[in-house]
Amino acid sequence: MKLANSPENPMLSRRRILMGAATVLPAAVAAAPSNGKSLPDGKRGSHRFQYDVIVVGAGFAGVTAARELGAEGYRVLVLEGRSRLGGRTYRGEFAGEHLEFGGAWIHWLQPHIWSEVQRYGHGVEEELIANVDSARLLMADGKLKEIGLKELDEIDREGMEAFCAGARELFPRPYEPFANPKVKELEKISAAEHIARLNLSDTHKAILNAEMTLYGAGPTDQFSYISFVKLFSCAAWDYYSFNDADRRYRIGKGGTLGLMQSMLKHSRAEVRLVAPVTAIQQTKDHVRVTTEGGQNVTARAVVVTVPTNTYNRIRFTPELSQRKRSFIDQGEMSEGSKVYVQLKKNHGNVFAFSDSPNPLTVVQTVKNDDKIGSIISLTVGRRSLIDINDPDIVERELRKIIPGAELAGISSYDWAKDPFSMQAWPSYRIGQMSLAQHMAEPEGRLFLAGAATAGGWHEYLDGAVESGLRAGRQVRQLFASEMQK
Ligand code: FAD
Repeated sequence: MKLANSPENPMLSRRRILMGAATVLPAAVAAAPSNGKSLPDGKRGSHRFQYDVIVVGAGFAGVTAARELGAEGYRVLVLEGRSRLGGRTYRGEFAGEHLEFGGAWIHWLQPHIWSEVQRYGHGVEEELIANVDSARLLMADGKLKEIGLKELDEIDREGMEAFCAGARELFPRPYEPFANPKVKELEKISAAEHIARLNLSDTHKAILNAEMTLYGAGPTDQFSYISFVKLFSCAAWDYYSFNDADRRYRIGKGGTLGLMQSMLKHSRAEVRLVAPVTAIQQTKDHVRVTTEGGQNVTARAVVVTVPTNTYNRIRFTPELSQRKRSFIDQGEMSEGSKVYVQLKKNHGNVFAFSDSPNPLTVVQTVKNDDKIGSIISLTVGRRSLIDINDPDIVERELRKIIPGAELAGISSYDWAKDPFSMQAWPSYRIGQMSLAQHMAEPEGRLFLAGAATAGGWHEYLDGAVESGLRAGRQVRQLFASEMQK
């Protein structure tokens, strides 16, 4: 069996970091001139410090913040722990195809990421689920149901609409999730508890539970029901819009990495890769950021965009507020993963949901013909239910959905095991939605961003960009207030 390597072996990157702590500038980034030559009026900061702003993390939140500040003339340094850009997006190659192993799908109902795509002219590629030949559902007890795509869609719609009943009243302005005080009262309800109360068939509940396992990236009895209703509301409280927003359009022209490079070029920021930040110390007039090799860099402000589950690798002085600490210490359960497999035979265009404890939550054909066989994307909601690095186990699970499936190749990204994410897409546990809001509150010269801190699409690329824009604005406000003193 031909096995492709994992796109990023965490142990390998870790070893590289310990060996070298080298500064690496990728071509697109190296081409960007370092900033700070002639600052526009009003932006002249104190040159007592090496930079105006240090951004920790080169995912979409970090790159957005860097662009917001760098393009305005501030001297920006981006410190990225990995040896690559992109964070929880990764465009890799498998079976001759360019594939996204992380965040990929975008939509015009996701206004922040959409405006970036428009601004840099990347356009979109479309994947039509409508061409599916066979739609299936693997029930929790292992029974496989073949369902027509139309019927699957109908059951999914009925389930989702029941789950999200009252969404319009609960979230009249989804980007301000607590506009309706009732939301707070519903924070303690889990997705599983809510599903159990709904008057729906077992098939409806199985699909709904698979959907919530996907969005929760963990057990549904821990996933915040109301946090999903907010996401649904962001798509104009509509099932079809939500589905389109979720899995139909990918970023064109170079995909996620291409867009990120366009944004970074515009930012004119300096980027250092393989520079994991270990400590951030604030004083009255500056911040000191320390990287794993013991190097210190100073600036007037710092924007931290690391995933929630990695915060404990950074020492903050003074310590973060109690409310931020509570969110970080609870952590996000988010243990999802992405796996691509190539099958020896062409099994047609398949789409399937599997209910827990079956681990392959969503199975979707990417490409199929008699020459290549089938290339299939497997989205795993609960990584702890399967060893995605064992091809025999993956094949065995896949055969429950595609009988006779024989793997010709496999490639996966183990996000939950990668030390620079330790989780997949953001997802809130019960009670966490309001705690996450506190992450967006500045603390002196420290600003936190990252998709999990967003008001709207907090599980998505849009949330990352939204949070980067907000952090950029907060830093500008700090600098403007200092100019007036
Ligand atoms: P990240 O992208 O995680 O960026 C944080 C950066 O900080 C990383 O580059 C990391 O290496 C770096 N870092 C961490 N610790 C340190 C440190 N100590 N020092 C320096 N740097 C550090 N979203 C969608 O919109 N559509 C989708 O289809 C979609 N599908 C997804 C599928 C998968 C498998 C995954 C994992 C995510 C998916 N998402 C999707 C979610 C989306 O990818 C994320 O919400 C988004 O990329 C998060 O961006 P971010 O900048 O907040 O965080």
